[in-house]
Amino acid sequence: MHEVGIMETTIAAVLSEARGHDASRVHNIVLRVGALSGVEPDALRLAFDAAVKGTPADGAGLEIESVPARGRCPDCDLEFDVESDFIFTCPKCGRISGELVQGRELELTRIVMS
Ligand SMILES: [Zn+2]
Repeated sequence: MHEVGIMETTIAAVLSEARGHDASRVHNIVLRVGALSGVEPDALRLAFDAAVKGTPADGAGLEIESVPARGRCPDCDLEFDVESDFIFTCPKCGRISGELVQGRELELTRIVMS
């Protein structure tokens, strides 16, 4: 379960941010997770509970914003929804494309602390 490692890294970043702001408590954390990031939100939540235990982020809320996968056609510049990874076809001209506009993100977007 690589979510554990991802979450440990994320919480380490959150705690270092909290220290930098002289915050003693972390209340809320928001993550953006792409549909094709390969990360399971449920596993992420479990890993989160374990990673924050005994830290200033213990008891903090975790919000996961899911980002749908979108591809872009290099020929007609059309952006479209992508269901599966690696290969997708432009719905307008049928060109097979591999260019993903979004869907692989895994980023920390907001930390609420005091
Ligand atoms: Zn096209």
